[in-house]
Amino acid sequence: MTVDLRKDFVDYAKSLNSACEDTNIQKAMTRAVGSYRDTVAETMERFQHTPELAREVREIKSQSVANLDELLKQAMASVERNKGKAFYAKDHQAALEIALGIIGRNKTVVKGKSMLGEELHLRQYLEDNGNEVWETDLGEFILQLRKERPMHILSPSIHVPREQVAEVFSKFFGKEVPPDIAEEVKAVREFMREKYFTADIGISGANVVAADTGAMVIIENEGNVRLATGAPPVHIVIVGIEKLVPTFQDAMKVAEVTWRYAQYGIPGYVNIVSGPSKTGDIEKVTTYGAHGPKEFYVIFVDSGRSEMAKQEKFSQALNCLRCGGCMYECPVFQVTAGHFGHIYMGGIGTIWTAFVAGGMEKATPLAYSCLRCGRCVERCPMSIEVPAMIGELRKRAIHGE
Ligand code: SF4
Repeated sequence: MTVDLRKDFVDYAKSLNSACEDTNIQKAMTRAVGSYRDTVAETMERFQHTPELAREVREIKSQSVANLDELLKQAMASVERNKGKAFYAKDHQAALEIALGIIGRNKTVVKGKSMLGEELHLRQYLEDNGNEVWETDLGEFILQLRKERPMHILSPSIHVPREQVAEVFSKFFGKEVPPDIAEEVKAVREFMREKYFTADIGISGANVVAADTGAMVIIENEGNVRLATGAPPVHIVIVGIEKLVPTFQDAMKVAEVTWRYAQYGIPGYVNIVSGPSKTGDIEKVTTYGAHGPKEFYVIFVDSGRSEMAKQEKFSQALNCLRCGGCMYECPVFQVTAGHFGHIYMGGIGTIWTAFVAGGMEKATPLAYSCLRCGRCVERCPMSIEVPAMIGELRKRAIHGE
């Protein structure tokens, strides 16, 4: 069945055109692209083994995607063995209901950055059910206050220059916050610290999950994930099943390639969480709930991913590490930021949108703004053939499956 796309196309074209004329986006994107290219070039020079490691990771990811059912079973058993509780959510609604079942109502929640959280509209859902939810990632916090969606998968507020951040912070904090980045960061730090230690629940995503051990690897720089998942008494991980790999060693390789192409020699923090906090210090009796969370839950979300894995022409999109590198190279993204996107952005985001976050109605306008120039493939550590998949999506939009 083909799709009537007229309204979606018109709305989307308006948003793209106005983004192209937005001087704040131009200013912020010019700064961000320049900084990414300089830093990543210098980082690759220092860590010259990275492209070879990326080739190895490509193999690990491809095999994992072909074996998701088995890895999921192993990972769930590993989480339970570690005294956590593992859930499988077939779709978005199931994931939200499981999360709400754990959290309940009238709770304070601190949350780390998660594109899956965006896909689920998780914050909105928890707020609608009577909870207070704070985004702890600085960029996400800015967007929470501006009531906007992320414009990049790793740097969600990439389109907001410091002058606009100062405006929104001054209003929210009720005092003058100057357009000085250090002052802006300080204001959020002071506000957020109390939230970490009074929150009932911390929520995070994970960059990669090792099925053999149930280890969740979470890469970050700000220290917000460490606090959000360490201070409250309950930690919930919400993660897509495409993040599964067989072993802990595989997970470390995936993590290194992810942060390297995200422009880091080494990130500020690499969190490895596998269960509730515990101690055996008194008489060697293992007791749960020491300094960190006493309860640990993992929700593995499918929601279109296993279907994507079965499709020969699209399954490689599941290899995406969400490093964000391709977006800085994309000529359309460079002038529109995440307006070239729905929930996920850019060429790879178009494929994700089609399968897990909006369907063909939302993905088709995106597919027709991709230039299929292939610059993303050059940058991508997984060499994902986005232009070929975009071509296939266009065929489906016209002729149906
Ligand atoms: S498609 Fe490739 S470059 Fe883009 S975010 Fe995914 S892994 Fe990174």
